[in-house]
Amino acid sequence: MNPNRQTRWSRPRVLVTGGAGFLGSHLCERLLEQRFEVLCVDNLFTGDRRNIRSLLANSHFEFLRHDITFPLYVETDAIFNLACPASPIHYQFDPVQTTKTSVHGAINMLGLAKRLKIPILQASTSEVYGDPQVHPQSETYWGYVNPIGPRACYDEGKRCAETLFFDYHRQHGLPIKIARIFNTYGPRMHPNDGRVVSNFIVQALLNKPITLYGDGSQTRSFCYVDDLIEGLLRLMKTSPDFTGPVNLGNPSEFTIRELAEMILQLTGSRSPIEYRPLPADDPRRRQPDITLARQTLQWEPRVPLEEGLRRTIAYFRDLLQEEGGLPA
Ligand code: NAD
Ligand code: UDP
Repeated sequence: MNPNRQTRWSRPRVLVTGGAGFLGSHLCERLLEQRFEVLCVDNLFTGDRRNIRSLLANSHFEFLRHDITFPLYVETDAIFNLACPASPIHYQFDPVQTTKTSVHGAINMLGLAKRLKIPILQASTSEVYGDPQVHPQSETYWGYVNPIGPRACYDEGKRCAETLFFDYHRQHGLPIKIARIFNTYGPRMHPNDGRVVSNFIVQALLNKPITLYGDGSQTRSFCYVDDLIEGLLRLMKTSPDFTGPVNLGNPSEFTIRELAEMILQLTGSRSPIEYRPLPADDPRRRQPDITLARQTLQWEPRVPLEEGLRRTIAYFRDLLQEEGGLPA
């Protein structure tokens, strides 16, 4: 994927599915900065027009409201397939649609890539490792997933999408890239999507109780959005013989209680901590081994958690003020 490559269009065109979502909108923005044409496809299930508001005036950006579980006939030079609700409350809201998005959506996007003979990147997830028995998780680990639990629509959907990507690669010679994304946070996360960083920040800013599930000793490793997008772009630019899967995430591991304490301190909030039951199949530990990304992409995250949280808190403070939830 080279911005200077000659194509039928003035600039190479990139399709981003899920482009009005949290990660997708940042990716569209970076692709426009790198002088690509961007076609953003999204059904706005968890995405929001506000995420792409500033891009709509750009003549190199186009938005198409479309559900990728239905076929799509467009012309493009590369595909980033990000469409899929990513937070547990959203992907569990309509689990059948979640699986359809991952599986039928992948088939439709792979079919499009096959017709056009273009590279396609799949936004996979650390959830393919399930509740891992190996720590930290490297790409060679096959995972420990409950196939019939409440998270399975997402985990197994994403696992099946990886299978489809590799079968299109082996059977049809399609150039594929698979990124296994670990917990990523930053501006434009949905304020009500239930993910831990957005939940805690919004609760802290509103001085409402911080909802800590379990005893807070479970761990996650949080990657700032700008770092993650850089990793996706580098992955797409690797030579066609590199398929991944490759882990993209920040290896600094924190307990959820540490995260809560850091957010309370950075917001200066008076919120109390309220303990709630741990959801079913909630992974105990999660930390990426990013050796492969370091070697093949020369990539590693640069933004420490505290700095990323400051930027994210500033975003949510403005958002809540705009919505009238906080005094100006
Ligand atoms: P998000 O919910 O903000 O974005 C997903 C986007 O996909 C939304 O705009 C939504 O409207 C759209 N979408 C959902 N179903 C669709 C469909 N059938 N057709 C068209 N559009 C559809 O979530 P995100 O955090 O930006 O995640 C983007 C991708 O990255 C997802 O595939 C997710 O699984 C993956 N991922 C994200 C994280 C993370 O921490 N953010 C971690 C691992 C993997
Ligand atoms: N979590 C929490 N309080 C919340 C939301 C989440 O304690 O209000 C916990 C959740 O149980 C999990 C961790 O934070 O252990 C990360 O949850 P999230 O939904 O953000 O991501 P995932 O579980 O998919 O990694």
